[in-house]
Amino acid sequence: MRVALVSVGDELLVGDTVNTNAAWLARQLTDRGVDVERVTVVPDRVDDIARVVNEYRAEYDTVLVTGGIGPTHDDVTMDAVAAAVGQSMEPSEAALEYIETQRGYAREDLTEGTAEIPADGEFIPNPVGVAPGCHVENIYVLPGVPEEMRGMFGEIAEQFSGTVKHTRTVTADEPESALLDRIEDLRERFDVAVGVYPGEDVRVKITGFDAATVESAASWLRERVEAPDGQSR
Ligand code: ATP
Ligand code: MG
Repeated sequence: MRVALVSVGDELLVGDTVNTNAAWLARQLTDRGVDVERVTVVPDRVDDIARVVNEYRAEYDTVLVTGGIGPTHDDVTMDAVAAAVGQSMEPSEAALEYIETQRGYAREDLTEGTAEIPADGEFIPNPVGVAPGCHVENIYVLPGVPEEMRGMFGEIAEQFSGTVKHTRTVTADEPESALLDRIEDLRERFDVAVGVYPGEDVRVKITGFDAATVESAASWLRERVEAPDGQSR
């Protein structure tokens, strides 16, 4: 399962807000064995959002969009997704009922447009906030507020699954440049993906579908690098 993430928000593009939503979703999806192949940030502009969503829904199995879905003027994410799939925005009776019965809001008190989603979409409950999410075609629309986004992802998490890869990390107390020969050798010997994360020590992340292969690769490397101080093999 190949997924693309689209994060909507001017505040992300100017650096006012760190895109923790994409990082959190990427982690959740990867842990479920899903391949996240794109993370794209777009402004709060209908055309830009619709263009990227359209490109990605053709290319990937699923597109997950996070961004403003409330009734305020800059919350255009849901309208943009409706535009992308060529549907009008309609009030969702199911969403209104959920908001009334499960969240205790009176219909009359809701700001106009609160429960509108694309006409053929299926509403996704928002257990933390008010504005509903939506599943339409192969697109999921979630809120921008991180707490609401995480709560709503819980409602759809089961839809995302794949073969979970095995991972081992080997830490080396050597400069990254000094390790290159052994990393190249490791790549040639074993059918694994290798990620090198330099920092105070260098962490080498070994990933693959076969647990035994990943273990052998990690042991092979561990025996050939300088272990960090105080750490025995
Ligand atoms: P509201 O209806 O309250 O406006 P919303 O669903 O419309 O909520 P946004 O307007 O996009 O969501 O964002 C609300 C808050 O969430 C802002 O503080 C914003 O900075 C933050 N936020 C939005 N997108 C992200 C993201 N990708 N990562 C982290 N925080 C985000
Ligand atoms: Mg908003």
